[in-house]
Amino acid sequence: MATTKGIRYQDSVDSHVDPLDEKPPGKPAELKKLAALGIETVGDLLSHYPWRYADSREVTDIASLAVGRNVSLVAQVRSAEVKLAQRTGKPRVEAKVTDGTRTLDLVIFMPHRGAADFHVKRLVPGSLGLFSGQINIFNGRLQLANPTYAIFGHEVDEAVALEEAEWPIPIYPATAGLESDKIRAAVRAALDPLTEQDVPDPVPDVVRAQRHLASRWSALRAVHVPQTEEDWRKGQARLRYEEAFVLQAELARRRARAQREESTARPARSGGLLEAFDARLPFVLTDGQVAAGEQIAADLARAHPMQRLLQGEVGSGKTVVALRAMLQVVDAGGQAALLAPTSVLAGQHVRTLRAMLGDLAEGGLLGGSDIGTRVALLTGAQNAAERRSNLLEAASGQAGIVVGTHALLSDPVQFADLGLVVIDEQHKFGVEQRGRLQAKAANTPHLLVTTATPIPRTVAMTVFGELEISELRHVPAGRSGITTHVVPADNRPWMDRTWSRVREEVERGGRAFVVCARIDPDEEESDDADLILDEPATVGEAQAAAQRAPKRPLRAVLEVAETLRTDPRLGGLAVGLLHGRMTSEEKDRAIADFASGRTPVLVSTTVIEVGVDVTAATIMVILDAQVFGLSQLHQLRGRVGRGSAPGLCLLVADAPEGTVAAQRLGALAATTDGFELARVDLELRKEGDVLGSAQSGGRRALRFLRVVSDGAVIDRARDDARALVEADPDLAAWPALRAAIHVQLADGREEFLGQS
Ligand code: ADP
Ligand code: MG
Repeated sequence: MATTKGIRYQDSVDSHVDPLDEKPPGKPAELKKLAALGIETVGDLLSHYPWRYADSREVTDIASLAVGRNVSLVAQVRSAEVKLAQRTGKPRVEAKVTDGTRTLDLVIFMPHRGAADFHVKRLVPGSLGLFSGQINIFNGRLQLANPTYAIFGHEVDEAVALEEAEWPIPIYPATAGLESDKIRAAVRAALDPLTEQDVPDPVPDVVRAQRHLASRWSALRAVHVPQTEEDWRKGQARLRYEEAFVLQAELARRRARAQREESTARPARSGGLLEAFDARLPFVLTDGQVAAGEQIAADLARAHPMQRLLQGEVGSGKTVVALRAMLQVVDAGGQAALLAPTSVLAGQHVRTLRAMLGDLAEGGLLGGSDIGTRVALLTGAQNAAERRSNLLEAASGQAGIVVGTHALLSDPVQFADLGLVVIDEQHKFGVEQRGRLQAKAANTPHLLVTTATPIPRTVAMTVFGELEISELRHVPAGRSGITTHVVPADNRPWMDRTWSRVREEVERGGRAFVVCARIDPDEEESDDADLILDEPATVGEAQAAAQRAPKRPLRAVLEVAETLRTDPRLGGLAVGLLHGRMTSEEKDRAIADFASGRTPVLVSTTVIEVGVDVTAATIMVILDAQVFGLSQLHQLRGRVGRGSAPGLCLLVADAPEGTVAAQRLGALAATTDGFELARVDLELRKEGDVLGSAQSGGRRALRFLRVVSDGAVIDRARDDARALVEADPDLAAWPALRAAIHVQLADGREEFLGQS
């Protein structure tokens, strides 16, 4: 690094004060603007990284400037004068700058003459400066209007400026009144006086040596004051690793902490419920299910809490694996709680369990089996008497298995001996809710989380990083699979064919789901907060087309069910309906009628999204498919083709070619591999959506790390962090790392760390 001039930092009276905690140097007005960006300290300022770099040699070439681009160019002032507007008399500065070959017009509009004169004094012909702004066209000539600029020689040391003119120019995320240049100057003033010792490094030197990483101080210099492109690239790589490392260190620490906790061992026992359940299973477990089951069984047998994520393809049999884990715990004398995302799903789990356990699920009843237990259900929609008896069964330990929705988390729910918490089909329960359920146990219970849809391993490692991961890669054999087609909503013949296919499937003994985005045509209400309602199209043409066509309101369950009942194309098939406004009993009845064939067509909202398991269902028509997310559509279609008959999914959509929605639907039609779809989904979405609001709102917790593409970095960081934590579980020897964890969590990362 070349030495650069700067104000020498005076040690403050209290030499213990960390220079990074100091206020940044600068004028009060500027500090106020920095504070508006969340920058209060030198440390904050140095973490305000450039979002891109301009190459001074490249931008100096005026011939290459494109209209509409934001540029920063180094150029020489040729002339500058004040002009007055003919009618209003308002002053403006008109200047010309040159790269030696061509000239570019500059115009700066000013409220009064004095301000304009001030600029003319600064813009001395012959002086060199850095000019930033947006290129536009005026009277057929390229122009830079109201640029921000710094004149070398006036504002910066000339010799230094000339040398630095060759360096990449960091461009900072700016706000009104605080342009990139000003931030750059502030960063320089803060950074220049600092030495390596002033900048604590969260990455311990042992790790740095092993991975050949520079110090944090030199990484900061490299990204803020790079002399070459290689400098800032290396600096970014080092900071990227650091982000992964700090995150993984926290996850490793949580994992270690949980592992040190005491839990009751729940080893498998022969002659119990699990064996009886297995004996009644109408199918053979897949290899993946056996392997995951063995891992879980071993975890449960330890006197420390299991912390495991079971992830896999829709329909790969995760729930079965979870149920078996619960039975092992009951066999060992404990209770297991299953938290489901919807009451429909909770009800279904209870029915599956009772059906599979038969008389074993009637423990305590006259004639029930000796080894039996009871399965209690707790949802928000139960009446008082029902609820009371279920609460009693849970609290007395009579019910070995308690299944429920969020209602399980409420205060009156008590357990006699809660040994296992299963959170099924989840990405929506937070850490706090999990904690509330775990707090209902005397000893930390074992924990099993199953995902709703597959997620790439790197994302799993980040979002569910403190959990061990078991994966089911294959769906059980004997499924005939699902075919998916996109049907343009305005194509009459295709729509006719869609409804006659529904009729054919039902006449062949199948069942048909019809999914709508809304419940009631007269209300906005939906069962789903995740609909994508105002997505910008990526292709200008598609956007224009969408604007021309009036927006059709989304189809609603009540309306669609009504019209389908009399639709000749369905030939009078009975149509049922299902949505979130119905009571639990109504919902259960709707599903039972659908399963039995009383109403072989079920018009529903996305309440059927997760887990609903009707093996006779062979066709699904999704209306307004363009407003659903990719993983959601994949989940939804996973409801059909679960039996031996092949499934068909028809995506009725209003998605002009070239829109993101069309890409989503195209991807869905092209593959049924959930892991592949998860990858595509992450590519189509902004990173912020992946990790929740921690990344989208305010300052981003992760600036350089991309969880989708930086798998290798995350892997390395995880290995390093785990090794470090193993040697020093509380990170006692690493205050800088502890501090970095603290800062990252304060930035809102806690939220996504806890998403499981
Ligand atoms: P997931 O929870 O992963 O979506 P489920 O556990 O609900 O999947 O299983 C989906 C369906 O497949 C259920 O009807 C279940 O009974 C059935 N199933 C589970 N495992 C097997 C298996 N090994 N062979 C055949 N069918 C299975
Ligand atoms: Mg499931």
